[in-house]
Amino acid sequence: MTKLTCVSLTAGSCSAIERVVFQQGRWRTVYFPATVLLLHHPVHGYGLVDTGYSQHFFAASARLPYRAYRWATPVQFDAQQAVAAQLPALGVPVADIKWIILTHLHADHAGGLLTFPTAQVFVTQTAWQAAEHVSGVTAVRQAILPALFPKDFGAQATLLTPQTTVALPQQWQPFQHGHDVFGDGSVFTIGLPGHAPGQVGVAFLDQANRAVFAVADACWTQQELMAHWQPTRASAQVLHHSEDYRATQQLLRQLHAAQPDIVLLPTHCAASHAAYRDDYD
Ligand SMILES: [Zn+2]
Repeated sequence: MTKLTCVSLTAGSCSAIERVVFQQGRWRTVYFPATVLLLHHPVHGYGLVDTGYSQHFFAASARLPYRAYRWATPVQFDAQQAVAAQLPALGVPVADIKWIILTHLHADHAGGLLTFPTAQVFVTQTAWQAAEHVSGVTAVRQAILPALFPKDFGAQATLLTPQTTVALPQQWQPFQHGHDVFGDGSVFTIGLPGHAPGQVGVAFLDQANRAVFAVADACWTQQELMAHWQPTRASAQVLHHSEDYRATQQLLRQLHAAQPDIVLLPTHCAASHAAYRDDYD
């Protein structure tokens, strides 16, 4: 089985009041990192899962109505935190990023896309169809900043369609179907509906032969997922589909119960990413 080398990076973060997000939260400010996975495939080279924040995010949200995104979600970021700024120290020229999987198109995931104009981008057709025609206040409400997408993105991106899914290996049950991104069984995208249109997670074996499932924003943190925390009414309003969100979380808990060794990496879970990085120090 083809293994990938994986490094977890953080490209900025956003802050929120925990009690505003979760019914079980406390009245304290919590910081949610915008993590990015740097992967290396033996044949397809370097790639990313999501792109975090970058200077493009600030340009795209400079003016109203897009500025409102930053009021709703305060962002902590400096230029050294952009993925592209971190790559050279890892020995990876920016131009060596050959492919990017966007789990969904929220601005904290697509925020660095313009930095990698030559990379092949994989995203679901559902995600793009929901994003391509929205603008203004409608876009901001869906956490979309249209200026983050290259011109002709829809034509250039590799759109993953429901017709091209395959049966997943037993290991990922109860998840049944996904996309075999490179056709070699090394990287699967797996639908995680509810949070945003067409959201997927990314599943692969890492350098230590561990199964990793980057679960995007299917939950904010693993703690919240396992403790069945409930979104507040305000945060439930920004979910694309509440029932699907709960069903996806139930499947993730089932997967974890059946395969506790699978590393679940929610994009914004600082603890999960810290533990994963510690394992390789
Ligand atoms: Zn999101």
